[in-house]
Amino acid sequence: MDLHYLTAHELGDLLQRREVSAVEVTEAIVDRIEAVDGQVQAYLTRTAEQALAQAKAIDAARARGEEPGPLAGVPMALKDNLCTEGIRTTCASRMLADWVPPYDAAVVQRLKAAGAVMLGKLNMDEFAMGSSTENSGFFPTRNPWDLERVPGGSSGGSVAAVAAGEACYALGSDTGGSIRQPASFCGVVGMKPTYGRVSRYGLVAFASSLDQIGPITRDVTDCALVMGVIAGHDPCDSTSAELPVPDYRAALKPEIKGLKIGVPREYFGAGMEPEVETVVRRAIARLEEMGAICEETSLPHTEFALPAYYLVAPAEASSNLARYDGVGYGLRVPGKDIIEMYMNTRSQGFGPEVKRRIMLGTYALSSGYYDAYYLKALKVRTLIRRDFEAAFAKYDLLATPTSPTVAFRLGEKAGDPLAMYLSDLCTIPINMAGLPALSLPCGFSQGLPVGLQLIGKAFDEATLLRVAYAFEQATEYHRRRPELGVA
Ligand code: GLN
Repeated sequence: MDLHYLTAHELGDLLQRREVSAVEVTEAIVDRIEAVDGQVQAYLTRTAEQALAQAKAIDAARARGEEPGPLAGVPMALKDNLCTEGIRTTCASRMLADWVPPYDAAVVQRLKAAGAVMLGKLNMDEFAMGSSTENSGFFPTRNPWDLERVPGGSSGGSVAAVAAGEACYALGSDTGGSIRQPASFCGVVGMKPTYGRVSRYGLVAFASSLDQIGPITRDVTDCALVMGVIAGHDPCDSTSAELPVPDYRAALKPEIKGLKIGVPREYFGAGMEPEVETVVRRAIARLEEMGAICEETSLPHTEFALPAYYLVAPAEASSNLARYDGVGYGLRVPGKDIIEMYMNTRSQGFGPEVKRRIMLGTYALSSGYYDAYYLKALKVRTLIRRDFEAAFAKYDLLATPTSPTVAFRLGEKAGDPLAMYLSDLCTIPINMAGLPALSLPCGFSQGLPVGLQLIGKAFDEATLLRVAYAFEQATEYHRRRPELGVA
């Protein structure tokens, strides 16, 4: 049995029945990382020793007759923008290459309390800015389905690790698509929860009004399980919602008869690969066969989401990243006076995409341009939110492609920021509206995975999970694994 390719709920069952130990499972996945990470390059930091110690503690608890819960002893890993006490957290930036946080992010605290075993920290685009993980300040991650292709981004290390059997599940962050687009490129399930559903405490900020943390898993049941642990109010995040968290796993009933699904035509526009469109439309037809009522609809302001996002997100980033000045955190490159020290530190610590965002954001916020750009973008954001409100008056959820293309080749878009930005066309509007959305495997094109995006009403993750589960039960796509040569 390949322990490294079991899902969290399968492993959880084996562990609870004492058929395997947490140490055995952890050793199997550590071996898998040894065997394939040289090719995939998903990990920035590995913590095998600590993971084994956590696994031993879980085994000991079970030996005492305690039952620490379904995720206890299941090995996972974290995107490297989630703070981990005592373990370096780099955001894949030279700026934070040696930064060790003094505390755990809220989601990390919750996973630890649930008995999770943490294998290490995963590669990403620097400060989560990008769509391919090529903007990592260290090295690019590769797509396990085709090592010459990108895994998507910015949570590329997280999805690649889950797809390659190097972690049972992972957490990522999604500001404009960074969980869903890479999940679709690597054939795994990725969910961006409603803004406010999961605490951002301890997530290194990119664009605070858009950032959300979410699960990356091999199936929908695991997504529900992990959501059940990480969701919920946290007084340390003032934007976290004070709402009860439903039992997501209990919501997984493969019953979608009569559910109304809108299919917004703007998401099937120019730049979309015809075969991706075919695969996604076939998946939607499948939902219809299963009893859902699918109907074409329109979200007329969709085309303005991308330009508005590239004002709002850089504006917030320019402010959030002001703290990296060589004084408080991380890198300091000396200079003859403090101004030169700031300049040296920021020129050497940040990569080109991060600098581009800081310049864009500073420009958009500067006096004289603020009204024309930033304020206008906020108004557009309201229009986008209203589009969704109108659609959700008629539909229970919306279905779209997650990305207009399958995974592209390394280097293909690296020199063209606009082409790179366009790969988030289908995911960005959802962040602008603060809504929950999930990507799940729905077929293949050129031998590469294609993702179906389901978008839900605010705080209605349960319906998304239910529909995704029903689709998964009726199909086999989530069971396909990439063929990686083992070193
Ligand atoms: N690719 C988008 C960007 O570069 C979204 C990134 C994200 O969701 N973190 O901003």
